[in-house]
Amino acid sequence: MDLQGKRAIVTGSTSGIGLGIAEALAGAGARLVLNSFTDRAEDHDLASDMAKRFGIEARYISADLSIGEEARNLVHQAGGCDILVNNAGIQHVAPIESFPPAAWDRIIAINLSSAFHTTAAALPGMRASGWGRVVNIASAHGLTASPYKSAYVAAKHGVVGLTKTTGLETAGQGITCNAICPGYVLTPLVEAQIPDQMQVHHMDRETVIREVLLERQPSKQFATTEQLGGTLLWLCSDYAAQVTGTTISVDGGWTAL
Ligand code: NAD
Repeated sequence: MDLQGKRAIVTGSTSGIGLGIAEALAGAGARLVLNSFTDRAEDHDLASDMAKRFGIEARYISADLSIGEEARNLVHQAGGCDILVNNAGIQHVAPIESFPPAAWDRIIAINLSSAFHTTAAALPGMRASGWGRVVNIASAHGLTASPYKSAYVAAKHGVVGLTKTTGLETAGQGITCNAICPGYVLTPLVEAQIPDQMQVHHMDRETVIREVLLERQPSKQFATTEQLGGTLLWLCSDYAAQVTGTTISVDGGWTAL
């Protein structure tokens, strides 16, 4: 896979799936912009380490994607991009009646609205060059639901809708837009929800992993960040040039049930 010369932005790429995807893009020679909202020295170091390790250009740009203007500015500060991966996401687990409204607003802003803003900012450059790839990291929860995750499920279903619409608005212009829908991957995001799941389900950690998380996945295995990076590279390849406006599940059979 050769993506030399292609400029990629991966939102929320200092940990978990975003980091795995950034490493896959770096391995293919893409020029990278890493992002999160924390702006720590170690975030900038991560980009320079990756640049050295893969012999590519890489830099870190801080942007709080809960704010629409910062999401658009991320793309403008990067000078546009050929590959946009909308990956940043957060989670909160609670029954609807006690779900904090502020958590609802923040989840919708980061998981859904930020992808609208970055896509709007990136498309003019992609149209001008006649080539572009927008990949939205949705979720199995973009195709099906689980209790206690109302905002996350609503946001991810929204991401799937945005993906279809973006695919239609760019069809035939050398640009594709697709969503990857992972099942569970053991990242900091999933680790952080385990204590809440333990509380709402009255279970210990191992039982939550077995009976709440992996129970949904017929494979009974977590997907890996490398497997998601590989799926993304395929979407960036010419083999996938006619794949647009659709979802690709990497979920061990979850959504086939
Ligand atoms: P993670 O917590 O490991 O990483 C999330 C990233 O988003 C981090 O880099 C974090 O700094 C960044 N981020 C959070 N808030 C931000 C903000 N306001 N502005 C900018 N960046 C922000 O999570 P992950 O598990 O790697 O999840 C990545 C994506 O994959 C999310 O969209 C998530 O919904 C999706 N996903 C994850 C799983 C899973 O099992 N881990 C499954 C399906 C979908």
